[in-house]
Amino acid sequence: MPNDSDKDRRPGHIPSIDELLRSDVGRQIEAEEGRTIALAIAREAADRIRKAFFSQGSGNLSDIEAAMLEIRSARRRLSLRRVINATGVIIHTNLGRSRLSKEATARAVEAASSYCNLEFDIATGKRGRRGAGAEAAIAELTKAEDAVVVNNCAAAALLVLKEFAAGREVIISRGELVEIGGDFRIPDVLAQSGAILREVGTTNRTKISDYERAINERTAVLMRVHPSNFRITGFTKSPSDSELASLASRSGILFIEDAGSGALVDLSAFGLADEPVIEKSIACGADLVLFSGDKLLGGPQSGIIAGRAKLIERLRRNPLLRALRADKVVYAALEATLAAYQKGTHFREIPTLRMLSETKQEIDGRARTIASELRNRVNAEITVIEGNSAVGGGAAPNASLPTYLIAIRPADNDLQGFAERLRLSSPPVIARISDEMIVLDLRTVEQFEEPELIAAVVSAAEKSSEN
Ligand SMILES: *Cc1c(COP(=O)(O)O)cnc(C)c1O
Repeated sequence: MPNDSDKDRRPGHIPSIDELLRSDVGRQIEAEEGRTIALAIAREAADRIRKAFFSQGSGNLSDIEAAMLEIRSARRRLSLRRVINATGVIIHTNLGRSRLSKEATARAVEAASSYCNLEFDIATGKRGRRGAGAEAAIAELTKAEDAVVVNNCAAAALLVLKEFAAGREVIISRGELVEIGGDFRIPDVLAQSGAILREVGTTNRTKISDYERAINERTAVLMRVHPSNFRITGFTKSPSDSELASLASRSGILFIEDAGSGALVDLSAFGLADEPVIEKSIACGADLVLFSGDKLLGGPQSGIIAGRAKLIERLRRNPLLRALRADKVVYAALEATLAAYQKGTHFREIPTLRMLSETKQEIDGRARTIASELRNRVNAEITVIEGNSAVGGGAAPNASLPTYLIAIRPADNDLQGFAERLRLSSPPVIARISDEMIVLDLRTVEQFEEPELIAAVVSAAEKSSEN
């Protein structure tokens, strides 16, 4: 008479769902997660084994129990997780752009976990305005008369065009009709707002007279869009902000600038000479300037509109603002981020600015320490080489930030496999592949993440020397 384990290995036999639920693992999962989840896990495991069965010919209980445990841990992991960004791209769009400062994080957690005076005036006990503190700070830092905050910069553009240009014409240079981040296209946002696009000039050259000739009684706005993620170089021309502002003012229309990245301070020392500083755009006479809160500013995802008080007041009354407004967590984090600028501690406190300003010598020191530890622990060729970090987030495509990279040549030369093992570690490590090597840029790795980075590399390298 065959014993149980022989029966389990009989080709074609997969234990029933009922058997799986009665197994040790099945009972344990049901006790911890409840019947419904245990049933779903058992079904998924049986399914997985059935599919593997034909290729591997094994359907025994212990394999299925192992699959059930694996499915249970995957279900317990939240899908949105912390990752280590070792790419050196500071404002990495796919990895969540800017990371918040410690202070901004603490304020965000506090706002999220408590009641707060979001729309309540503590002095009078009456209703207050959402975001008044952050908006006052923006006005102070940009020397604008007033400001209003929405969910992101795309929302800012939509709101502004809807309020001031619906059914009327907006003049934009052909060189600025750009697509940003794959899904933000100025002509599409314009169409959504009901404004009519009037293109002027050519891709590389637009003169003030081109704008002037296009102005007619239907024109509402002269708009400048910072091209962010690309540069046209060579034979180029475009009028200055002041020329555009003065033409708009003479013609009784608005000059609005979509600055995109939102530099509150001059970052030209870090190769970002092309990034408009918001205060300068305001000083040049822009009626409204729009920018993101989570690009160069280094705060939470948000869209900021700064400019003339009477125009901001009209935006506050637009019913669309109700749909585009930011939440309390964003206001808390934004206000704390702006406070660092007000105190003058922004380069120390705000991760985006700190990473931007870290020198290549500082990164070299960190890279060498980690590389020598790795050399002692893994069987792979490890060197420290010169390279470049990137600003990302559509800012400054030409800016190069010299850095030092830890370069790894895996024993089995399987770069994709190595990169995949790094991604599957916990927390996932995202690296770059360059010149037949895995490269890690510490510019975007915080010091507290270094031990986790080392552990992930050690474990990924062990598997490539086994192969
Ligand atoms: C990034 C960018 C936007 C979109 O900003 P989001 O905050 O991602 O909505 C709009 N305009 C310009 C010029 C940009 O660079």
